[in-house]
Amino acid sequence: MEEIKNDGRRGHAHVVLIPYPGQGHINPLLQFAKHLAFRGVKATLATTHYTARSICAPNVGVEPISDGFDESGFAQAGSEDVYLNSFKSNGSRTLSQLITKYKSSGFPVDCVVYDSFLPWALDVAREHGIYGASFFTNSAAVSSIFCLLHSGQLSLPLKLDDDESSLQLPGLPPLKSRDIPSFLQAPGSYPAYLAMKLSQFSNLEQADWVFGNTFEALEWEVARTVSELWPVKMIGPMVPSAYLDGRIEDDRGYGASLWKPLGDECMEWLEEKPCQSVAYVSFGSMVSLSAEQMEEMAWGLKDSDVNFIWVVRGSELDKLPNGFIESTREKGLIVTWCNQLEMLAHRAIGCFVTHCGWNSTLEGLSLGVPMVGVPKWADQLTDAKFIEGVWRVGVRAKEDEKGIVRREELIACLKQVILKSGGSSDEMVMRRNAREWRGLAKEAMSEGGSSDKSIAQFVEHLKSRGRNGYSNGN
Ligand code: UDP
Repeated sequence: MEEIKNDGRRGHAHVVLIPYPGQGHINPLLQFAKHLAFRGVKATLATTHYTARSICAPNVGVEPISDGFDESGFAQAGSEDVYLNSFKSNGSRTLSQLITKYKSSGFPVDCVVYDSFLPWALDVAREHGIYGASFFTNSAAVSSIFCLLHSGQLSLPLKLDDDESSLQLPGLPPLKSRDIPSFLQAPGSYPAYLAMKLSQFSNLEQADWVFGNTFEALEWEVARTVSELWPVKMIGPMVPSAYLDGRIEDDRGYGASLWKPLGDECMEWLEEKPCQSVAYVSFGSMVSLSAEQMEEMAWGLKDSDVNFIWVVRGSELDKLPNGFIESTREKGLIVTWCNQLEMLAHRAIGCFVTHCGWNSTLEGLSLGVPMVGVPKWADQLTDAKFIEGVWRVGVRAKEDEKGIVRREELIACLKQVILKSGGSSDEMVMRRNAREWRGLAKEAMSEGGSSDKSIAQFVEHLKSRGRNGYSNGN
C-alpha cells in the first residue's frame, strides 16, 4: 500500500461501492456497504440507472452511474460484448464525475470498492488519487482458479481426458471435469464473460485491498495457498445481519430486488406446512433452464414426497408443463420471485434445491439448510463440488449424457437430504454439518470474529488516515 496524505478529516471516511449490475453482485456489495455504514463510514452504492431504482437500504446512499443503457440495462445492449464495453467507457466517465461531485461536498470520496469484474474502476480511483479495493463475489476456490490462469500456472482450455480424471490444484480438492467452471472447459462458450473474469487480475497488484465474500473457517486453505498471488481479506458471508450477528438493526433483506418479491403469499402458504417438510427451489437470477430440464424438474417435484416452493422467473413460466401449476396446488407453490432468505429461515423449509450460485450457497450455509445442488454453468459447478464433497452439507444431482437432471434423480436426491421421521444417517450428518457451518458463519461475522476483524481493520485504516489524497508519487 502506498503512502497517503492526511487531510485533517481524521475519523471520517466515505466509500463508494460499485457492483456489477446483477442481483448476485448487488446483494453482497450492498451488504458490505451496510457493514461500513454500521461502523460509521459514509457508504454510497453507485450502480447503473436501471438497477439504482430497485435499491433501498437504510444508511446507504445510492447514486446512478451509466452503463450507456439507462432505460433497460443489459437487455437493451443485445450482447455481452457490447454491454461490457459500453459499461467500461460510460461507467468510467460517470464514476469520475461522481467522485468530482463529492470533492466539494464536504464528503470527498476516500475509497472505491469495486466489483472485481470491473477493474476499470480502480483506474478511475487512481486518477483521482484515492484508494481502490477489489471485491470478489465468487468463492476463494473459484477465484484462485482464475488467479492461477492469470499467472500462467494453468492454461486454457482446462479439459480433462475423461470423466474420471482429475485436476489437482494448490489448496483445492481434486477436481473432475464436472467440477471445473464451465467457461474454462469451453472458452469459446461465453468469450466476453470469460474475458471479464480473467480481467479481474489485470491490475489487481495496484489495488489497496482485496476483499472476498467468504470466511476463514470455510476457505482458509485455498486462500492461504494462493495468498501471494491473491492477498485476500475474507469479510463474508455477506448475508443480512438478522441471520448472522444480528447487530445491524432490522436487517432482514438485502434491500435490492430486481423483481417484485411475493413475500406475503409465500409466508401464508408456508405457515400451514409442517416443520422441515418443504423444499425451496431456486435457480437464481440468471440461469435459464431448457424446456426439457424444466419438465423433468416439474414432474420430479410433483412425484416426490415433499412439498415445494419453486421460484420460476416470469420469463421462464411458459416452459412449465401445461396444467402443472393447477395439478400441484396442494403441495407446491410457484412464485416468480421472493425474499430467499426469509424462505430459507422458515421452520417449514427442509432443504434448498439450488443452482449453487455463490450467494445462494453462502445463504444455505448461513441458514444451516441442507442442499440439493443442480448446477448449470460457470462457477456453480465448483460450488456444488464443495457443497457435496468438502463441506458435506448436501448432495449434487447427477446429469445424464444430455446434461439433464432427470426426475428420478431429483427424487432420489430429495430423499437423501430432506428429513423424514427419524432420518437416515446421511441426512443426520448433512443436517448436523449444516448447523455447524451456520455456527461458524455467525462466529465469523460477530464481534471479534475473523470477518468482523477484517472489516474493522479496513474501516480503522480509512478513518485514522482521515484522507482524501492518495500520494502516488505524482
Ligand atoms: N434471490 C432472491 N429471491 C429469489 C431468488 C434469488 O432474493 O426468488 C437472491 C438470492 O438470495 C441471492 C441472489 O438472488 O442472493 C442470487 O445470487 P446467486 O449468486 O445465488 O445466483 P445468480 O443469480 O448470480 O446466478
